[in-house]
Amino acid sequence: MLRHAMRARGLDAMLVSSPAGIRYLSGFTGSSGFCVVTHRGAWCLTDPRYRLQVREEASGVRPVVVRGGFASAIARHRLLRGCRWAGVEEGDLTFAAYRGLRKESAPCLLKPAGEVLSHLMGRKDAAEIRTLRRAVEISDEVFRDVVALLHPGMTERDIAAEISYRQRLAGADGDAFDAIVASGWRSALPHARATGKRIRSGEIVLLDFGCSVGGYHSDMTRTVVLGRARRSVRVLYQVVLRAQEAGLAALRAGRAAREVDAVVRRAITREGYGRYYPHSTGHGIGLRVHEQPRLAPASSDRLEAGNVVTVEPGIYIPEQGGIRIEDMALVTETGSILLTSSSKELVIL
Ligand code: ZN
Ligand code: ZN
Repeated sequence: MLRHAMRARGLDAMLVSSPAGIRYLSGFTGSSGFCVVTHRGAWCLTDPRYRLQVREEASGVRPVVVRGGFASAIARHRLLRGCRWAGVEEGDLTFAAYRGLRKESAPCLLKPAGEVLSHLMGRKDAAEIRTLRRAVEISDEVFRDVVALLHPGMTERDIAAEISYRQRLAGADGDAFDAIVASGWRSALPHARATGKRIRSGEIVLLDFGCSVGGYHSDMTRTVVLGRARRSVRVLYQVVLRAQEAGLAALRAGRAAREVDAVVRRAITREGYGRYYPHSTGHGIGLRVHEQPRLAPASSDRLEAGNVVTVEPGIYIPEQGGIRIEDMALVTETGSILLTSSSKELVIL
């Protein structure tokens, strides 16, 4: 698959430096690695700490244990012999690593081609979908348990700790990212960290969290109110929910990702809240929490069957509060399959 995509882009080699890309290509999960794929072969370079692990985990690539830098090892082992153009993951390489690679790869020339790999990674196969479903199930289960636990006086940090602990207990390898728990006026901060603030009855509590299973991630957001929700909050909630459901209904292979964003944005703008929706509508998710396709106004991605994406509109009114609802869905030829199954009820008694 990768070689086919490389050929279409005129690449003789692909140099893969991102941990997610390396895991995708080889299965190797060590923190130090580098994959080289050419038409002659595929190699996974690592350092002596991972001698055993790379043999155990990596498949479809030849393990190469090296001392010193990867760039000089590529030259020493002549892995790019006969190659004219090598693609690099430009979003991942540091400038220093790029400079080293450019020097050691000569006469082979480097060009940015991260999207060759990220496009492949965006199209999940059956095994990847099974793993993603497991991650989503764990987060759904933990949401149900944590909601039952919520009570006035708990701090945002207590809630974040419960989420993290319970995801691990349920079988996750870890959190997908630090859980966002934002209550009261803090829910108007789209990416708030959990603090020592205590939640009170009648306040908004926004929970955005996920876990990782076998390297694949879940990501969901629910906004709830303990006890009675103010009328203004209930109205706002319905606007976000309708926009979110319109977004889910718009998912289909072949559609431009920016069109899905436009459907959601129109639903919010029509109700007069356009300027309170400051972020994009969603993102692909897999070995990376944020990957292709991007559901954003400037996105040039087109949805394909096998994409797993989030749809997560929000409205954030400064000093008052914010609401966001986020689900994961699998894009199919005819529409989509919702993966997240947690209730979207606003009020919790
Ligand atoms: Zn999220
Ligand atoms: Zn997300």
